[in-house]
Parts: sequence; C-alpha cells; structure tokens
Amino acid sequence: MSRNSLPEMLAPDVPGIARAAAILAAGGLVAVPTETVYGLAARADSDEAVAAIYRAKGRPDFNPLIVHVPDLAMGETLAVFDARARRLVEAFWPGALTLVLPRRPDAPLVAAVSAGLPTVALRCPAHQVMRALLAASGLPLAAPSANRSGAVSPTSAAHVAASLGSGVDAIIDGGDCATGIESTILALRDDGSWEILRLGPITKAQISAVLGAGSEAVTSAGGIEAPGQLASHYAPGKPVRLGAGAAEDDEFLIGFGPVVGQVSLSQTGDLAEAAARLYACLHIAAAAVNPRIAVAPIPDQGIGAAINDRLRRAAA
Ligand code: AMP
Ligand code: MG
Repeated sequence: MSRNSLPEMLAPDVPGIARAAAILAAGGLVAVPTETVYGLAARADSDEAVAAIYRAKGRPDFNPLIVHVPDLAMGETLAVFDARARRLVEAFWPGALTLVLPRRPDAPLVAAVSAGLPTVALRCPAHQVMRALLAASGLPLAAPSANRSGAVSPTSAAHVAASLGSGVDAIIDGGDCATGIESTILALRDDGSWEILRLGPITKAQISAVLGAGSEAVTSAGGIEAPGQLASHYAPGKPVRLGAGAAEDDEFLIGFGPVVGQVSLSQTGDLAEAAARLYACLHIAAAAVNPRIAVAPIPDQGIGAAINDRLRRAAA
C-alpha cells in the first residue's frame, strides 16, 4: 500500500466497512473506532502488514500488539484458554478486557505481533464498527492505539488524522469513543496467579470478583513484558502538574468536579465521563498557547484508578 497521500475517510456504513476490509486484505492500515480508543488495524497474519503498524506509529518493535477477535471461537485458534480465561470471557467479552494467554504454536499470527513472546494479548471489542470490520475481514486484526508511539491516544477520527496523517491508508469515522481509556490488560500465569499489566475500564475489583482475590500475583515479574507500562507515555509534549486546585499563571487547567478549568473532564464529577473526555482534554491542552498543563485531582476509585495511571504517565 502506498501512503504518500492523505488517508481515505470512510463512513461507518456497509460500503465503508467493505472498503476498509479490502484495504486490510491487501495488507494496508485502517484506523477504526473501538469503545476504548481508535485502533490502527492490520491483518495479524502478515509480516508486512504488522511491520507497517510499527512503522506508522514509530513504535519500538519490542512492544507487542493486541490482537482483536470477533469471538471466543477465533480466539481459541490463537491462544490457549484455561478455565479462568473462559470465566473472564463469559463475564467481560465483548468488552474492554485484554487477556494475555499462551500463544498456540499453530496460531496464524506472525511472530512480530507479540514481539516474539510465547504469549499473545487478545481482545474481543464491543464497538459495532470494529465488530463489523472483524466480520467483514474474517481475520484476526492487530490494533494498537492509532497514534504516534508515546503520544496522547486518539478518541476521535480527527485525533488519528492529526497524529498519523498519511501514515494510515484509511480512517473509519465512527465519532467519539464512549469509554475513552485503553482496555485493562490481564495476564493469567501458569502457576494459577494473575496480574493486571495495565489498569483500564474493567477494574481490579471486577476481576477479583470472577477470579478470587487471593490468586493475584504480589509483584510484577519485572522487565519489559508490557512496554505500554513505560513510565512516560500518553505525553502531551508539555510539563503536566497533577492534583492542581487552581491554575498557575502559565498553566492550562483541566478541571474536574468543583475545580473549574479552561476545560473540564466532568463538571458533575462523573468518572466515566472523565475517562471518555480525558484524551480529548489532553489534546486541547497540548494545542493551547500555555506552556504548561495542570490537572485537577481525580478520585482513585473505579475507572478513576485508570485515569490516574494515564495522567501519571502523561506527567512523567
Ligand atoms: P496499545 O497497543 O497501545 O493498546 O498497547 C498494547 C499493550 O499491550 C502494550 O502495553 C503491550 O505491551 C501489551 N501487550 C501486548 N501483547 C502482550 C503480551 N503478549 N504480553 C504482555 N503485554 C502485552
Ligand atoms: Mg497506545
């Protein structure tokens, strides 16, 4: 696929999905809305297509991708699901939970998709447009967030176009993402333990309720198992100050609840709304004239824990 021109803008309708599926079949890159953030999709069984994702994002090749599947049946052709994995699928798929599972030796996936690891990260998305694209293409689709590596994630087609431009063949414009924060990533270990590798919309309490709290691994295995956990990520390109009650002179303040800023994550203090608006507010703050960004305190409850995780990395 040649990427010298601007991306095709596609509508989230039958012809648009058909065109996107044809581009994917030919090894191209399509940005697609999901309930979490916009993904940069490519067929996961093609070395060239997967290499194009890493190139378009400027993503280090040791950072593996999430593979998206339409259902458990396709998932089972790619990874080994034990009883715990099945319980989680039952509870949370389709939805914002990514499972890191042992990769099947015969999986039709190129090694680069999981950066050579013996595991693969799988998610079954709920968004109707992404589901239609998976159905039309009939392929597992690798899809990281559709932004330059390390930058603020995209929750609208305009964010994708601004970050990737001609680096993507087509963008399906499905409006703003409803959840707004990347999926929770959960690793299930061979020893029966589990570990959250990335906080997200599905909370630790929800996972504990399915798996039992006692089996959670105490510490991270260390090393770069989930490089999306790098300390600096989601960077708006300016210093970010957290927990701000008011703006200093040169700051653009992102408010929440009673803290009134130039924009607000949620004037009513609603955490789901704050998650949905987080990246849009960071994009606005990044484009503002103010050289620094301040963000109001966000309660660390429910999805607030994932919001604070993203904010800490944006500030690092
Ligand atoms: P993104 O593509 O931006 O949503 O980030 C995907 C995240 O999934 C990154 O943090 C990856 O490191 C993580 N990931 C993908 N595959 C694996 C895997 N096999 N083991 C651990 N983490 C993974
Ligand atoms: Mg990302």
